Amino acid sequence: MTFQPVFDLKRPIFIAGPCSAETEEQVLATARGLKDQGVDLFRAGIWKPRTRPGAFEGIGTQGLKWLKRVKIETGLPVTTEVANAQHVYDCLKFGIDVLWIGARTTVNPFSVQEIADALEGTDIPVLVKNPVNPDYKLWVGAIERLHKAGLRRVAAIHRGFSSYGDSKYRNVPRWQMAIDLMQEFPDMEVICDISHICGRRDILAETAQKAYDLNFDGLMVEVHPTPDQAWSDAAQQVTPERFGEMTRALIRRAVTTDDPDFLARMENSRSAIDDIDEEIIHLIAQRMHLVKEIGAIKKDKNIAVLQPERFRALREALQKRGEKNELSPEFISMFLEAIHQESINQQEQIINGKAAGKVVAGNLWLGD
Ligand code: PEP
Ligand code: MN
Repeated sequence: MTFQPVFDLKRPIFIAGPCSAETEEQVLATARGLKDQGVDLFRAGIWKPRTRPGAFEGIGTQGLKWLKRVKIETGLPVTTEVANAQHVYDCLKFGIDVLWIGARTTVNPFSVQEIADALEGTDIPVLVKNPVNPDYKLWVGAIERLHKAGLRRVAAIHRGFSSYGDSKYRNVPRWQMAIDLMQEFPDMEVICDISHICGRRDILAETAQKAYDLNFDGLMVEVHPTPDQAWSDAAQQVTPERFGEMTRALIRRAVTTDDPDFLARMENSRSAIDDIDEEIIHLIAQRMHLVKEIGAIKKDKNIAVLQPERFRALREALQKRGEKNELSPEFISMFLEAIHQESINQQEQIINGKAAGKVVAGNLWLGD
């Protein structure tokens, strides 16, 4: 797939505006506040897909008129979220400049196809948010559907992924997935929606800098004149002034340099990292060897494979060790989960290969 730039700017771009268009005054006040803060595209949600019923579900089509006014008054191009064909037709009628597909829509190929069909024959830019679940192929699939409909000005928005349990983030970033997308489609812009990743304004600035350091092509940020009074996503919105301060403080680092001192130091550290990686793989392979041995012993002695106590103890010990070594609890959980999955696969081969039907490992820890 090849793409044309949506933004075509040689610097990171900024998309900003309220989570939801609430009133004409609120939309215009935000746009006026943002006009001189270096914003490239004004955002506001008109139709709001909410997780639970009863919350504010968007002002609907009348909000499109307000966006049109923003364009006329401030000269800023505007964007809103579309989730079905009717939304697309309404946006085209009102001259919305860019559309975005939300995370709850990207998960549904029927909806994405409906939007793609409605857009056929136009060349309006579309930004595709990642699906709520960390499914790389589903994200690429949505982009593909638009591409097949003839759209070339398509970009992606990374907004993190839903998870169960406590996390620093509202939607955990799993940065690697966005990095993979950048590598697979080098000519497609990838924007970072720091507001929906963070879910809270106190960690927005550090997350924005992180996105800069990972070479995202721009940021999407939710901005509201009185954030605490916002009708949706109040905790993560910031004022236009705060948005300006935060983005001006961002440090743009060059992707690379030909400074020989830098190159030599990088080379040294990178070769040390390569050695460590090799060792890690070797150690994990050794661990798997033991896992298989235990599987064989359990099978031989007719001992139950599931040992949840052992897993609990292991998890606790690893979390403690992680904390001592300044590794985040999120990382330790992910690490353990990956090892766990591979252990299950390896033990299942042994158990099911030689004693079929005895044990159902399911998705539980085998307690190696
Ligand atoms: C939004 O941008 O306001 C929104 C609903 O985002 P997401 O689809 O990422 O949840
Ligand atoms: Mn929002």
